[in-house]
Amino acid sequence: MEKVDFTKTSLTEVYGCNAFNDSLMRERLPKSIYKEIKQVQLGKQELTPAAAEVVANAMKDWAIGKGATHFTHWFQPLTGLTAEKHDSFISPAPGGKVILEFSGKELIKGEPDASSFPSGGLRATFEARGYTAWDVNSAAFVREESSGATLYIPTAFISYTGEVLDKKVPLLRSMEAINKEALRILKVFGTPADKVFTTVGSEQEYFLVNRDLAEARPDLLLAGRTLFGCPSPKGQEMDDHYFGAIKEKAATFMRELNLELWKFGISAKTQHNEVAPNQFEIAPIFESSNVASDQNQLLMDTIKRVANRHGLSGLLHEKPFAGINGSGKHNNWSLCTDTGVNLLDPGDNPSENAQFLVFVMAVIKAVDIYAPLLRASTANAGNEHRLGANEAPPAIISIFLGDFLTRLFEKLSKGESIILDKGQKLEIGQTILPKLPKDLTDRNRTSPFAFTGNKFEFRMVGSSAAISTPNMILNTTVADVLSEFAGLLEKSDNLNKTVLEIVKTTYNEHSRVIFNGNGYAQEWVDEAEKRGLPNIKTTYEALNEYVKPYAVKLFKKYGVFTKVELESRRYVYLEKYCQQIAIEVKTSLEMAERFIYPAVVKYARGLAKTLKTVKETLGSAGYPVLEDKLKAIMENLSGLQAESDKLKSVLHEIHGKYGDDIGAEAKAYNQKAIPQMQSLRTFGDNLEALLPASDWPFPSYLDLLFRL
Ligand code: ADP
Ligand code: MG
Repeated sequence: MEKVDFTKTSLTEVYGCNAFNDSLMRERLPKSIYKEIKQVQLGKQELTPAAAEVVANAMKDWAIGKGATHFTHWFQPLTGLTAEKHDSFISPAPGGKVILEFSGKELIKGEPDASSFPSGGLRATFEARGYTAWDVNSAAFVREESSGATLYIPTAFISYTGEVLDKKVPLLRSMEAINKEALRILKVFGTPADKVFTTVGSEQEYFLVNRDLAEARPDLLLAGRTLFGCPSPKGQEMDDHYFGAIKEKAATFMRELNLELWKFGISAKTQHNEVAPNQFEIAPIFESSNVASDQNQLLMDTIKRVANRHGLSGLLHEKPFAGINGSGKHNNWSLCTDTGVNLLDPGDNPSENAQFLVFVMAVIKAVDIYAPLLRASTANAGNEHRLGANEAPPAIISIFLGDFLTRLFEKLSKGESIILDKGQKLEIGQTILPKLPKDLTDRNRTSPFAFTGNKFEFRMVGSSAAISTPNMILNTTVADVLSEFAGLLEKSDNLNKTVLEIVKTTYNEHSRVIFNGNGYAQEWVDEAEKRGLPNIKTTYEALNEYVKPYAVKLFKKYGVFTKVELESRRYVYLEKYCQQIAIEVKTSLEMAERFIYPAVVKYARGLAKTLKTVKETLGSAGYPVLEDKLKAIMENLSGLQAESDKLKSVLHEIHGKYGDDIGAEAKAYNQKAIPQMQSLRTFGDNLEALLPASDWPFPSYLDLLFRL
């Protein structure tokens, strides 16, 4: 990639230079077409074929100017990754020549062969047709590679019979649902707005390891996480990595990562070292949920690509190393009007405050009653190691509100007067609401769902996950409660009184979900159980929530999913879980039997020979220093083989036993395969500790975590 010299080119020029964004459209499209696009973006009209033709042409000229030879519809199938199929712009012309073409039709609609994407039985193979459709609200972009460039068009992926096959469409539907319900609330309060959209800023954690070292490990290569590995003598206990000076190699990587992201118009803003050694975080500035989801996919992909160029591997797995913090993604979420008002900002006057309280209450109630769905939205094989294991955040969903709001709600719910910190007394009569302080920021790092001043931060999301799913769940569940509140407010003849009632009832009924203490402590787990809060530890249990009657009813009501679509999603996610664990199992076996075993035998042979020679030379007295070591090695090797055999039979037993009952299969992987892999690992790790570092067949935790 060519370097940009910022002393000659300003960053503002570089920013967004590879995105076909709003200002570019304004510049390159005829006024009437630009206006039409704006209307389409607001959902007020459909894109006409004539306009599509003009846009496609402008896009093509721009992309070709950037060196693009191909275009692709870029979509998000249920694999959680992105998919693309490239077509070149060339079209045959007389005389053996070509012209470059890109039609409106090609811009709007693509027809990838959908049969190889997981659909959970939605499409019979003979009818395996699906199409992709341009999402006008997400900017097309050009991706530069060392060998050329390609135009990417963000698209939705739908089957010909109308069922959703991707992660974008449900998100868009959920945004529509919350838009509708939020507008009802705003109307009651007389707040001007044509549209409400949800906003998301995601903080992405990842590890960087030396690529040669990472690729020398079958587990990192195939499963994305280490399946064996002795702890390094030093881990994260010194807290010397968090916010520490960024190593040169990582800093160089980050510079290029930022540059690539900025070119796409992704506003990479903060970056720092995370808690674990070689763990880092990058956070762009928030965007509308839909755009933020696309950008996060692109960001994850760019981390991997740029890392590669720097001789590094970017690890996005939720738990690459045992005993070391895993990686997550903090999903900062709020609601915003088209006039730029953040609805989770307390506002400046009592009316705005009242409106704010309604939105906060809606979130509290939604999170309490739909906690299992939120948990489900973060369920994957990797995250299982974080949630509910010995790591934060816990699998229990609770909300951190901070002292001020908690006290306020407590008093409001009891009808008591309030004394603010500055000594001002707030009288709350029947109908008067207090004026809230502007800055409600408070900090608690252990909460899975924290109010942070003007947004909620959902911290359960896994680092490798597509954020579209958790946001789709947040939007739909909050829309449901807003709908209920809107009903109450629309009927009210005394708005403030109704708002107070909403606060009172909601707080009294749902304050069990509020917890401002240490979410990592065992006491909280016990306390949460007493409060009746769900603690769903496994992926298969969490994913089952999608098809429970309450969920089916909810998603149907807001037009986000049909029952069939939910069933298919549960199936696909569980299937992916099973496949992932099966790969881990097979990789563990491969490492144990084809790497560790031979390495140990080879070393033991040498040791036995040495022992023999020593005895011959020095007489047959016992030499425990050699004998004990050899014994320990042989014992652990026997253990390794025995556990490996057991793991093989577990895999064999699970394989093919459950037929279509994917839930039972996932459960078996969780309850039988994972513990058995752990037993095998114990012997492998013991052996690693017994052998010289130079005889061990894989780079160690020390290598991976401290050598960049
Ligand atoms: P932290 O203190 O949690 O590390 P950061 O400043 O790193 O916070 O990240 C906060 C994230 O929240 C950023 O991505 C930021 O853009 C985002 N954010 C700020 N305001 C909003 C909002 N109104 N809606 C959604 N996200 C927001
Ligand atoms: Mg955060």
